[in-house]
Order: sequence, then C-alpha cells, then structure tokens
Amino acid sequence: MADLQDLERRFGDRLIREPERLAELAHDSSRVGPEGAPIAAVLAESTEDVSAALAWADARGVRVSVRGAGTGLAGGANAYPGGLVVSLERMTRVLGIDAANRTATVEAGVITAQLDGRAREVGLFFPPDPASARTSTVGGNIATNAGGLRCVAHGVTSDAVAALVVVLADGRVMRTGARTRKNVVGYDLTSLFVGSEGTLGVITEATVRLKPISPGAPRTFRASFDTLTAAGAAVTAIVNGDAQPEVLELMDALSVEIIESFQPSGLTVPAGAMLVGQTVGLDAAAKAESITAVCRELGASDTEVSETDALLEARRLSNPALNARGLKIGCDVGVPVAALAEVFAGIAEISERHGKRVSTVAHAGDGNLHCTVEAPDDATGIAAADAVIDDITRLAISLGGTISGEHGIGSVKRHELPWQLDATAIDVQRAIKAALDPRGTLTPDRAI
Ligand SMILES: Cc1cc2nc3c(=O)[nH]c(=O)nc-3n(C[C@H](O)[C@H](O)[C@H](O)COP(=O)(O)OP(=O)(O)OC[C@H]3O[C@@H](n4cnc5c(N)ncnc54)[C@H](O)[C@@H]3O)c2cc1C
Repeated sequence: MADLQDLERRFGDRLIREPERLAELAHDSSRVGPEGAPIAAVLAESTEDVSAALAWADARGVRVSVRGAGTGLAGGANAYPGGLVVSLERMTRVLGIDAANRTATVEAGVITAQLDGRAREVGLFFPPDPASARTSTVGGNIATNAGGLRCVAHGVTSDAVAALVVVLADGRVMRTGARTRKNVVGYDLTSLFVGSEGTLGVITEATVRLKPISPGAPRTFRASFDTLTAAGAAVTAIVNGDAQPEVLELMDALSVEIIESFQPSGLTVPAGAMLVGQTVGLDAAAKAESITAVCRELGASDTEVSETDALLEARRLSNPALNARGLKIGCDVGVPVAALAEVFAGIAEISERHGKRVSTVAHAGDGNLHCTVEAPDDATGIAAADAVIDDITRLAISLGGTISGEHGIGSVKRHELPWQLDATAIDVQRAIKAALDPRGTLTPDRAI
C-alpha cells in the first residue's frame, strides 16, 4: 500500500480516509459502482493541490480518478481499488465575470447553475444547460462535453469553452486557449481536453463564454402526438423551419407516465409522444405559435403555449423519475436529426422483438436520445435490457449516429467504441493518452 505521509502532511483533514465518506466519493451516478475501495481522497482547494496529488500518485503508480460532483452517467469518476480520488468539490470560486468580453473565469468545481446565476446578475447567461445543472460542476461538464436542454440553440459545452488550466498526470500545469474570440496558435489543446473524461488531465480552471439574455418573456410549448414517429418527423420540420426554439425536447408516453407518477404536474399522457420546448426573444409568443402550428399540420392531436416553465420542469425530472422506478439500463445515442422518425420506428420494432418496454426521452432538436429499458433488477433482467440497448445503439450507428451524444464513454460504453470508431482512430486516441500519461495514472482504461 502506498505511503500516505506526504499527502497527510499537505492535505491534513482534507485527506479523506474515513470509509463512509470515502465511499461517497468513490462512485458516480451510473449503474456501475467502483470495483474496490480507494486508498484515500483529496479535497483539492487549488491547482497546486491537484498538481501535488497527481505528482504523488504518478511517482508511486497509484491510479487516480477525478471527481466533480459525481453526477456522471458513464462510470468515469468511479474510484480504482487502492486508487486515489481527486475531488474538485471545494474549488467553487467564480474568479471573475468579464461582462465586456462576455466571459467568466471559474474554478472547476463551480456548480453549473451557480455560474449561470452569477452571469444573469449582469444580463448574461451560461449557455450549457444539462438537466443536472443544479448539481453538476463546470469542470465535469467540460470533461464530458455535456449537452443539455438549450443545445439546439446554443451548441454543446465545447462551444462555450475559451481557455483552461489543466494539471497533467505527472503534476505539470498547463494553460490552453485564450480569452480572445479568435485564436490559432498551435494545436487546439482546449478542444482536446473538452470531453476527455478525466483521462488526459485535471481541469482546475476554465474561462467560458457567456451570452446575453434574450429580451422579452420566454414561452414554453407542448405538442402531443399519437405516434412517436410523427413526433420525430415534426422535430425535423421544426429544426429546419423559420421559427427556431431555444429548447426542443421529447418524452414518449411511457416517460410521461413515469414522470407524472413521480411528481404529478397535470400532464396528460399522450398516445405516442409529447414535444415540449421553449422560445425566447421579443417574438417568443409568435415563434411558439408558429411551431405548434407546424406540429398540428404534422399530426399533433393537442398543442399548448404557456408562459410558465412547468413543462420543462417535468422534462428535467425524467432522470430521477426513471431512477425511482428502478429503470437503470439506458443509452445516450445520437442520430442526425432528419433520421429521428426512422430511429423511433426502429426502436418500436426492437422493443416488440425483445418483448421489453422502452421509455425514451430526447434532446430531440439535437437528435440525442435517452432510451431506458423496463426490466427486473437482477442478472437476467439486466442482460435482457443490455441486449435491447445494444440493438438500439447499433441502429443509431446504422443511421449515421453516435453511441454517445453527451454522457461520454467512461467504463459503461467502452465495449461499444469499435462499433463507431475504426481501429486507426482508436490507435490515435490511445497514442495521445500514452503521450500525456505514459504511466497510465489518470483515469486509465476508460473513455478510449
Ligand atoms: C439527473 C441527471 C440529469 C443529467 N442530465 C444531463 C444532461 O442533460 N446532459 C448531459 O450532458 N449530462 C447529463 N447528466 C450527466 C452528468 O450530469 C454530466 O455528465 C455532467 O457533466 C457531469 O458533471 P460532474 O461534475 O458531476 O462530473 P463527474 O460525474 O464527477 O465526472 C464526470 C467525468 O468527468 C471527469 N471530470 C470531472 N471533473 C473533472 C475535472 N475538473 N477535470 C477533469 N476531469 C473531470 C470525471 O473523471 C468523469 O470521467 C445528468 C445526470 C443526472 C444525474
């Protein structure tokens, strides 16, 4: 067992060894737990802390897992047996908001919604809006290149990252990017670290781009359809139409039923699926009416435009609602948005063939689907559910899609990598990993 004296001297009571607290820091929110207990966790308070912890681990061959808030769904932040957990939960300072340049500089452990709240005080907002925004960290969002509800209008997290401070596996500290709008100096290392899932370096600080809050009152809208495929076709039409939504989400009948039984909000369960979304700007009401008109033309049986946020709140509840129902086996596939109707038809066929009910919620405007399979929580049930998810994932790839739209690969989806990437692309990724972390210290054997 590695000698912890040096870490004890530096971190004092910020070196966690107490088993119960350590167990809390050892897993993320995915269905897979850690394979064994870590030796300790450090609660870093600075870039220098992270550097010291990584240098200590790298010199001793101790594997390190990196943790923001542990809301990840891919097993990426799970601890290694005998490993060290580096937690960013105490690095929560907003270091500055530069309203004139529409950027914010934050420590990596800042909660996403808190950054958004601080930006709103000066008329700006932080565009990435994962449904976990009230609990996940900005560093975790960057490390997973998180998506969310507003991506259809504002892009994913990578579109909002300007510059990073990163600690490499051996403890060296590096800065990437610039605060300028344009920057073409060397390789784009900022992008390399976005979505790297803790495998290439620990992000300790980020400069992110903010946007101005749209004037006027937003509107939310709902359109209910008798079939999922009709809802999918409507999404494709909306995304290609003149009235652009800021949010465009889909919940199928089973998901609405599950969400309503978890926390009733008065939603009527549709026969097929429900689209919910939001429009912003001075013409928000007109855009919402125009979008619901498109939905009616394409077969919506019932539509609604509202001034409240209740419809989107229901969508945000989908993950906890599914968890409460014990539905754990899910996916995060993406398809080109024009393939949505086809993917929904294929999912219905797969569900019927396997005799398993599938619930789907989707960041529909991005073509990003979260399908969850109803199955007993035992070995046989999990294997049966996994077989359904495998088929849905292969279907998405056959339509030009991806195995992960936003949650990343972690340990949960690593076996799927060769389904999407060719052998050379996998080799190149592993060569980059070997160049930055030759001893395999940082989140080894995950993500790539
Ligand atoms: C209810 C719920 C709703 C969700 N909704 C969405 C959604 O809409 N969109 C979406 O994309 N995701 C969503 N997620 C998944 C999750 O919230 C995101 O992946 C989020 O970005 C993870 O942030 P975190 O701080 O919890 O990271 P963690 O779970 O702690 O870590 C996630 C990964 O990032 C790495 N990591 C974390 N911090 C750092 C750092 N500072 N430097 C380097 N690596 C780091 C970890 O090692 C791990 O591989 C949801 C999860 C839940 C539970």
